[in-house]
Amino acid sequence: MIDVKNKHITIAGAARSGVAAAILLKKKGAIPFLSDSGSVDNEFANKLRDESIEFEENSHSERAMQGDYLVISPGVPTSSPITKRYLNDDKSIFSEIEMASWFNRSPIVAITGSNGKTTAVNWMHHTWKTADKECIVAGNIGYAFSELVDQSEENKDVLLEVSSFQLDHIHTFHPTVAVILNITPDHLDRYGNDFERYAASKFRIAENQTSDDWFIYNADDTMVSGFAKKLSERENAPNMMAFSTESEVHKGAFVQNGQIVLRLDQKEEILMNIEDIALPGRHNLSNGMATALAARASEIKNEFIRESLQSFEGVEHRLEYVRTFNGVKYINDSKATNINAVWFALDSFNVPIVLILGGRDKGNEYLELRTQIREKVHTVIAIGEAKEAIKSQLKDTVPNLTEAESMKEAVKKASKVAKRGEVVLLSPACSSFDMFDNYEQRGKVFKESVLEL
Ligand code: ADP
Repeated sequence: MIDVKNKHITIAGAARSGVAAAILLKKKGAIPFLSDSGSVDNEFANKLRDESIEFEENSHSERAMQGDYLVISPGVPTSSPITKRYLNDDKSIFSEIEMASWFNRSPIVAITGSNGKTTAVNWMHHTWKTADKECIVAGNIGYAFSELVDQSEENKDVLLEVSSFQLDHIHTFHPTVAVILNITPDHLDRYGNDFERYAASKFRIAENQTSDDWFIYNADDTMVSGFAKKLSERENAPNMMAFSTESEVHKGAFVQNGQIVLRLDQKEEILMNIEDIALPGRHNLSNGMATALAARASEIKNEFIRESLQSFEGVEHRLEYVRTFNGVKYINDSKATNINAVWFALDSFNVPIVLILGGRDKGNEYLELRTQIREKVHTVIAIGEAKEAIKSQLKDTVPNLTEAESMKEAVKKASKVAKRGEVVLLSPACSSFDMFDNYEQRGKVFKESVLEL
């Protein structure tokens, strides 16, 4: 643990986790100073004033550069001037979860991956509740770790959603159970467009683990399983458990004859039929198995795991069922902000689909969806800034390719072409900021438009 008492600590980024970090540091006897290169929301500014914490907005002053060390919010890139300056001055930089972990007393179950973190963490939360086991849920899903760490206790687990940005600046952060769901290209702009670098920061989740800990990984993801192999050869490596929807694993969870099998300690246990899993899609089978293994590593019994895998209701904006109208199912997958998530969304249905696609393009290769689209999608409705890219890339792939100016118009057009038994799916592959405040608002507008039909 790094000493914080009477230390002058600059925190970069004054949104939820930065503000929480500053409050925690003050409570622990440090002298925090918050600095944001943009403007600070009123809500956060008021909170800081209430706590008598000094802050600045719209630039990083020389004072911000003079801290003993720097704590950064996940929204602040490593390439920003303030992080560069601390690096140049040979001073330490810590992420918010690293700093919070200095005050942690609970076993940490940390979940990372490109897609599915929120789903898996919520699924675990549901499992812990089902088993009546105490836990704290934190990360980028409601509460920052800094906000809750003072509630940690030895017999209470912390279920922590962890992004690669948070892992970029860890030193001693040490999960008892680490879970890697998958690694696919996303956020590459923050890693110099280098996929290996992005993957390497996710793998840091296991950096401080020892043979007393658990490492749970997706064996179907070649990059992740390649890393796991190397990790298992490390001295003092954590206990490894894998999950796979495709093949048997040496230790962990896999599918056999339509059932989830847990193979642990040389023993095989049948957990349940895959048909009884509450959420649709192969990706959710993976998420469910990851949840089951994390629960077993945390000594939760199969009966509770089974019950929770059957009864979890999912998370809003992730393949969320909205309504059936004229025999057509409407599904809101507004959180699908990359191609991989859309691939799994399409994979989840066995009926013809009308797909609403688009938003702010991140340099997507829509043709990666070619096989799925040829098989299932008869109409693509393109929206937002990505319209032209979608049209030029998919024009020879899908029978009907049209566009809409608003979500309402897209839903209307979809309702005209979708036939009884089919699905209308919003799974945009893009961020929402060209037309909406965020993906939640995009999903809300989609749902409202569907309910108005
Ligand atoms: P995250 O918190 O990592 O962004 P979410 O649970 O919010 O993940 O899901 C983001 C999107 O990815 C949603 O469209 C969801 O349906 C899809 N998704 C969920 N789990 C997986 C997975 N294991 N693999 C691929 N896509 C997934």
